[in-house]
Amino acid sequence: MAQRVGLYPGTFDPITNGHLDIVERATAHLVDKLVIAVAINVGKSPVFSFDERVAMVKNETAVIAKKYNTEIEVKGFQNLLVDTAKEFGATILIRGLRAVSDFDYEFQMASMNRHLEQEVETVFLMASDRYQFIASSLVKEVCQLGGDIEQFVPKNVALALGKKYQA
Ligand code: ADP
Repeated sequence: MAQRVGLYPGTFDPITNGHLDIVERATAHLVDKLVIAVAINVGKSPVFSFDERVAMVKNETAVIAKKYNTEIEVKGFQNLLVDTAKEFGATILIRGLRAVSDFDYEFQMASMNRHLEQEVETVFLMASDRYQFIASSLVKEVCQLGGDIEQFVPKNVALALGKKYQA
């Protein structure tokens, strides 16, 4: 049977426990291989460089790949999402849905992508209860204002973010 390859795109500035929950659920239940695509060019200037974001995603997802004996690749992308999916042999686009506020944009994107490429199907995973309020942008804001972020992101990410705002 053909391998089901999923593409999980995002900015990951930085990766949070919410992202990791999506990676774990997709790996456990949906795909034979997951390509995590980290956006190279980000509109609003990211706190972490592309290389830093990729390194953190790789570090934090290695344990999930091992747990499920599934390949997880971390790549950069700057082209159309459907072209990136084709480039990596992915037919499933994985997105997380947190709240109604995510819905409009995601619905529009999924429709646009289906018009551009019928072979790629977008699959949405509803955020888990305990992570639905976690967004990279909010975590950064809390950290900048001196709040404790260790329950929202992996330990190494919390340390790296703390350093950014100390500097
Ligand atoms: P983008 O720049 O596309 O918003 P993000 O890095 O913020 O990229 O998120 C990538 C994907 O992960 C999106 O589908 C987003 O909805 C999803 N996501 C982000 N945070 C969470 C969370 N806490 N729970 C579930 N999905 C999430």
